[in-house]
Amino acid sequence: MQVDVDARHKFTLGPAGGRTRVAGHDSIYMAQPSAPSSGTIVSLRGVSKTFESGTVALSNFDFSVRAGEFVSLLGPSGCGKSTALRIVSGLGEASAGTVEWPGGTAQIGFVFQEPTLMPWANVAANVRLPFTLGRTDESSSAAAVSQAMARVGLAEFADAYPRELSGGMKMRASIARALVTEPQLLLMDEPFAALDEITRFRLNNDLLTVWQELRRTVIFVTHSVFESVYLSQRIVVMTPRPGRVFAEIAIDAPYPRDERFRTSVDYAGYCRHVADALAKAMGGAA
Ligand code: ADP
Ligand code: MG
Repeated sequence: MQVDVDARHKFTLGPAGGRTRVAGHDSIYMAQPSAPSSGTIVSLRGVSKTFESGTVALSNFDFSVRAGEFVSLLGPSGCGKSTALRIVSGLGEASAGTVEWPGGTAQIGFVFQEPTLMPWANVAANVRLPFTLGRTDESSSAAAVSQAMARVGLAEFADAYPRELSGGMKMRASIARALVTEPQLLLMDEPFAALDEITRFRLNNDLLTVWQELRRTVIFVTHSVFESVYLSQRIVVMTPRPGRVFAEIAIDAPYPRDERFRTSVDYAGYCRHVADALAKAMGGAA
């Protein structure tokens, strides 16, 4: 059975109102190819990245995100996810192609896989860092710092030092630091990969709550099918290196999503569908 996932179509799972079932496949429905839409916050066109070592990390990578969207980049280790995120953030440069910001360059918050907190500073000082670096004095940033800590459930830990925090709490502090300036675009690079499953589930839920409250845009990088389906409105499945977009899959399940969604038949169906696309992206059978 051949499914033309390679042509950058967007798929969505049934029950498919007005959608076409892909012949010979019981779980893939073909939706309209993603149309260029208004409200695009950033778009990468034909982006390639070759490092000095000669490694081609990305090749002809096309990717757009709408304002307010929660989108995941899903792909195997080494496929260029972090490279793509760095290019979006401006920390890295494309070797070819363009990065466009139709509404002007967005303010960005970046959450790395490691929480990267300053060990000598307490939580409040760590969260305040973007203001400190921007020479904003403590009194005028105090409210924003308190609010960011409260959003991630760390209000009572303002005076704690990183060594006193669990892995999950360190990551909460790191997210608060990224949110403190209320950036339009939050880039998250496998932020929960090192956490135990229960902590990861909690942080998934809390991240969705924050996203719904703040109505900002999130680009979330993960290699977990399950995590990407749980969180995202749309999943961009990447090929192995050199990374390019293999398929885009819409996860049409409503928010708020919670443990009921995580144990639902719909969730399992989406996961199977996404796992199937990822397997094809890897060049294998599902
Ligand atoms: P991912 O985040 O999907 O695991 P990366 O974007 O980190 O992948 O890396 C993609 C490829 O580019 C990998 O083969 C990696 O080794 C290589 N790479 C990443 N950064 C550099 C660099 N600064 N110099 C050379 N090669 C790099
Ligand atoms: Mg990476």
